[in-house]
Amino acid sequence: PARIDVLDTVREAVDGLRPIAESNRLSLRLEGVSVDVFADRDRVQQVATNLVGNAMKFTEAGGEIHLSVASGPNGFALITVRDTGIGIMPNDLEKIFDLFFRVQGQVTQEPGSGLGLAISRRLVELMGGEITAQSEVGVGSTFTFTLPEAASKA
Ligand code: ADP
Repeated sequence: PARIDVLDTVREAVDGLRPIAESNRLSLRLEGVSVDVFADRDRVQQVATNLVGNAMKFTEAGGEIHLSVASGPNGFALITVRDTGIGIMPNDLEKIFDLFFRVQGQVTQEPGSGLGLAISRRLVELMGGEITAQSEVGVGSTFTFTLPEAASKA
């Protein structure tokens, strides 16, 4: 881990996914403020790529994926990935971070391993943060992860 600007780091990952978003006719937006966190740049990008990748898989053409980076309470940066996709039922929502878990019978049967979110949770926790999900079927899903802010320079 090192001092990194999390907005910058997430932007790089998001820019790499723009071509896929465009070819799927998905709007992909990122907004927020620069926040210095103490984290591993490659791993933060891996988590962001997983979350945005999922959002793109489970959102129909014409939908929106919106990321935001903010400085949250208690010295943690807050990174949110919100989609207007198919959503996740409450029963499934409890299990999506489990190894190999995939929601059955989804309208969009997308390829996948069920590993992405389990790995993302592990990585975020190793960096001292947390990852959570909220969702409403037919409305969309929001994934949020936190990372410890780096102590101010000075
Ligand atoms: P994978 O996407 O490879 O199957 P993940 O661990 O990343 O594995 O995700 C687990 C499951 O959670 C997915 O198969 C899907 O059913 C559900 N899921 C994850 N992200 C979303 C999302 N943004 N919208 C709807 N369902 C999702």
